[in-house]
Amino acid sequence: MGKPRLSILLANPRGFCAGVERAIEIVEQSLAKFGAPVYVRHEIVHNRYVVEGLEAKGAVFVEKLDEVPEGVPVIFSAHGVPKSVPAEAKTRNLFYLDATCPLVSKVHREAERHARIGHQLILIGHAGHPEVIGTMGQLDEGVILLVENVADAEAVEVNDPNRLAFITQTTLSVDDTAEMIEVLQRRFPMIHGPKKEDICYATTNRQQAVKAIAARCDAILVVGAPNSSNSQRLVEVARKLGCSKAMLVQSAADIDWARIADVRTLGVTAGASAPQVLVDEVIAACRECYDATVEVVTVTSENVRFKLPRELSEPSPVA
Ligand code: SF4
Repeated sequence: MGKPRLSILLANPRGFCAGVERAIEIVEQSLAKFGAPVYVRHEIVHNRYVVEGLEAKGAVFVEKLDEVPEGVPVIFSAHGVPKSVPAEAKTRNLFYLDATCPLVSKVHREAERHARIGHQLILIGHAGHPEVIGTMGQLDEGVILLVENVADAEAVEVNDPNRLAFITQTTLSVDDTAEMIEVLQRRFPMIHGPKKEDICYATTNRQQAVKAIAARCDAILVVGAPNSSNSQRLVEVARKLGCSKAMLVQSAADIDWARIADVRTLGVTAGASAPQVLVDEVIAACRECYDATVEVVTVTSENVRFKLPRELSEPSPVA
């Protein structure tokens, strides 16, 4: 008897975004320019495969700056850092490169601008995520109010509803964020903010691509890490659209074959920090068990590229 048939719908866009590509390139070019070891504060992007690959080339990942020895370069991850981190690096005379995604830096500048003109700020985001810690750390402690869900948006108390603004994490669910903004705008009609939210193009496009396949799929595999916000949101978006068997897998080894045994149409996508090689492995694993066909479902094309920090093209300050 031949293998059972499986139709794979491959969402596009998926996987690496421009911010992730830039961050990885910063680490790779730093290793080439300054030599190993190069220290990186926090996982450069939330993916073990990427982190282990860079470790093998000589990158050392630490959580705190005080773990970085003198005389070696240190890179800040794509998620951004509180202002206190570069300040501490300067105090210690450490040479650092900032791999913060330019779209996260843009939100940091928005936060500063609102503070300058006297707006109290609400950040829509998830407590504890490094991007939220970094964004809240652009202003003095306790200045930014965090709203994580609709209940928070209903309850948040502000100093002056006429001098108020909101910003958002870049990797949220577009639909959930719209609901929270609606509540804030109903409660505080004078609230300032971006046109829609600060969710980045990559997060938005990956969610749209999942929406385009969800109704046709019996199950969806999202390749991504458990601590990757945008990957988790892809699972939620798929489930909200009725695909109850939407699952996060870090690699092909995580696939729960029993759960997808009766699946005839399988969606596959990947979070912005998951490399294509992991998606290829998932598809290859499916081909081993099934007579699989792959249909790519494209909702838009992306051609975003970000510049690298100028320190990489300047003479090295590291001895
Ligand atoms: S997901 Fe968006 S904000 Fe995050 S690194 Fe990628 S482009 Fe930048």
